[in-house]
Amino acid sequence: ASVGSEKFDYILVGGGTAGCVLANKLSANGSKKVLVLEAGPTGDAMEVAVPAGIARLFAHPVFDWGMSSLTQQQLVAREIYLARGRLLGGSSGTNATLYHRGTPADYDSWGLEGWTSKDLLDWFVKAECYGDGPRAFHGQSGSMNVEQPRYQNVLHDEFFRAAAAAGLPANEDFNDWSRPQEGYGEFQVAQKNGERADTYRTYLKPAMGRDNLKVMTGARTTKVHIEKSSTGPRARGVEYATQQFGERYTAELTPGGEVLMCTGAVHTPHLLMLSGIGPAPTLLEHGLDVISSLPGVGANLQDHPAAVLAVRAKPEFEGLSVTSEIYDSKCNIRLGAVMKYLFGRRGPLATTGCDHGAFVRTSASHSQPDLQMRFVPGCALDPDGVKSYIVFGELKKQGRAWPGGITLQLLGIRAKSRGSIGLKAADPFINPAININYFSDPEDLATLKNGVRIAREIVAQEPLRKYLLEETFPGERANTDKDIEEYVRRTVHSGNALVGTCAMGTTPASGAVVSSADLKVFGVDGLRVVDASVLPRIPGGQTGAATVMVAERAAAMLLGQATITSRREPAAV
Ligand code: FAD
Repeated sequence: ASVGSEKFDYILVGGGTAGCVLANKLSANGSKKVLVLEAGPTGDAMEVAVPAGIARLFAHPVFDWGMSSLTQQQLVAREIYLARGRLLGGSSGTNATLYHRGTPADYDSWGLEGWTSKDLLDWFVKAECYGDGPRAFHGQSGSMNVEQPRYQNVLHDEFFRAAAAAGLPANEDFNDWSRPQEGYGEFQVAQKNGERADTYRTYLKPAMGRDNLKVMTGARTTKVHIEKSSTGPRARGVEYATQQFGERYTAELTPGGEVLMCTGAVHTPHLLMLSGIGPAPTLLEHGLDVISSLPGVGANLQDHPAAVLAVRAKPEFEGLSVTSEIYDSKCNIRLGAVMKYLFGRRGPLATTGCDHGAFVRTSASHSQPDLQMRFVPGCALDPDGVKSYIVFGELKKQGRAWPGGITLQLLGIRAKSRGSIGLKAADPFINPAININYFSDPEDLATLKNGVRIAREIVAQEPLRKYLLEETFPGERANTDKDIEEYVRRTVHSGNALVGTCAMGTTPASGAVVSSADLKVFGVDGLRVVDASVLPRIPGGQTGAATVMVAERAAAMLLGQATITSRREPAAV
């Protein structure tokens, strides 16, 4: 269960979205010895491969970390469930597979040399293999498979007609950076012929046989070993465990080797703090040595808060819903759905359910869309959209029939609220303290409230109205501004886009944790962060594509094939 005395040029902590990209690229030419330590198992399971299996992955006892936020008083004293993948491929193995880059303005707003949209477009394109023919702004030769969604439902078209009737423009390609993001259309998906194309399948698996790449599953890193030397602190390796109360093992670096943190926006700041890197008061409070005092570790947490609008179908149209196409009235999966998937990778099992929708500016004061609508041709059974998936995945157990209808999941995609990751204890097996802090900026609440009204306007248009019976969530009685606010606060859930907790930037004093020139942690040699936690500001779209882009770029930089900026960053404090 241990790596013994073997030493590595790179230790990748976390074999998730970014970790799998790095594992492939850094081991490709055979000259570097690479170790991946992943807490979860492989991602070979069927519910990971088949897009509709996502309903079984939320709160999964093995494939999900099962974390929740601290109690949020502003959300009616609720804890918010925060899904995070725990398997090779990480959250790319459990996510909704939507492929969105956001807009050029998202990246330009970072104000970081080397990270403008002009700098980044090539990296998005280089990473991508778009499967539905050549298209401007898309790549054909990368590893990240992207395609148009394969499942078609008549309600998708009716949603498009209703959105047009409500005044939204059509958008053929939300990743075409020559045009505004606004409008309705199909979302592209990280899939290959209807199968999930997570980074385990696309990057890691093809590299697994290499002699210089060692991948350990069930290996949970508990700490980065940092040595204090005359030249300053330097990472020497990591400590990891294969069971909570079992032995702790060590994996060591070769001289000059590096630890790359790829455990994502919750665990990366958590592990850095446990290793003595973070806000000094927090570390001291928990009896931890302060190796590099970086106030930005765990700060700047961002997400896409989400609420739903759900409407029941008239009885004669119940059968149109994706849910009815998957389950029969006894909650058994329909043979027809299985056959369509097995013999063509099509039908309702080829979708995660939410791959059509729209981007909307909910008020004229926004220069770009603040809202994403994910249209689901099925009726949510719970106003918490994430719980609704969980209920769907367990329907057989629950033995209840699923009513037909439609749902619009409304996400605040350029949310301004900021939360934080802190420590509950100096024990790596105790989840960190996550303050998700939705609506600390009131504009985010306004986005979701306006979103409910705009969604109602779309649903009221004839193309959709003819199919529909009654609104179940929020429900027609929730009409006043106060009612809708109460509904949003009571039901808001995570859009699963956590980023920002080890932000890149130019100085620690500005809240940065890693240098935007090379992703090195300020104040410690041999240690970088390469995952979603380095994104300083959330892009307006799901965050997987940006994470892969960062990892591709970091790998090229480490291999000496590219630089990020020519400027030297200030020395650590
Ligand atoms: P992850 O991919 O989460 O990888 C972190 C890895 O580190 C995991 O494998 C984890 O098990 C491992 N790890 C953690 N701690 C330790 C430890 N101590 N020791 C060893 N290993 C450890 N993005 C999109 O683009 N499109 C979508 O449709 C979309 N939907 C989403 C739906 C859900 C339910 C979720 C959870 C996310 C979704 N996202 C989506 C977001 C996207 O998947 C993430 O932004 C991205 O995967 C983050 O990548 P990462 O490398 O930072 O972290």
